[in-house]
Amino acid sequence: MPYRKRQRSTPQRRIILEELQKVRSHPTASELYELVRIRIPKISLGTVYRNLELLAEQGTIKKLSACGKETRFDGVVNPHYHVFCCQCGRVDDVFDLPKGFPLETPEYVCGYRILGQRLEFFGICPKCNSCPRDIQHEPPKEKE
Ligand SMILES: [Zn+2]
Ligand SMILES: [Zn+2]
Repeated sequence: MPYRKRQRSTPQRRIILEELQKVRSHPTASELYELVRIRIPKISLGTVYRNLELLAEQGTIKKLSACGKETRFDGVVNPHYHVFCCQCGRVDDVFDLPKGFPLETPEYVCGYRILGQRLEFFGICPKCNSCPRDIQHEPPKEKE
C-alpha cells in the first residue's frame, strides 16, 4: 500500500454501502462497481474493492466466498444463511431453515471454545433447474 490513511467514513464509502444495501443479489465487487459508477462516475474498481474490504473488516457488511467462486458481498448482516447455485452462481438468503436443522451452537467442540458456526447450502436454483442443459455437448463430469 502506497500510503495509509485513518479509516474515516468517506462519502464514497457511504455510497458503496448504500448501493450494496439496496440489492439482495450479493454482488461481486465488479457488479457493485457498475452500480456505484452510476452515482460516482470517476470511481475505480480498486476503490470499490478496498472500501468493501474495509467495511467487511469493520463488520458493517459480510463477505461470502463459496465454491471457489468470486467473493461476493452482503449488506444484510442480521443472522442468515445462504444457498448458492452451482450452475449460475446465484445466491439467495435463507432466513428460515428447514425444520429439524441443528442450529444450536455448542459451547465446546473437541476442546475448542466455539465462537460461531457457518452453514452453507449449495445446489441448483429453480431457474437452472427448469432449463434443459442438453445444449452443451459435454460429457458429464465424473465426480465422486
Ligand atoms: Zn442457477
Ligand atoms: Zn445474505
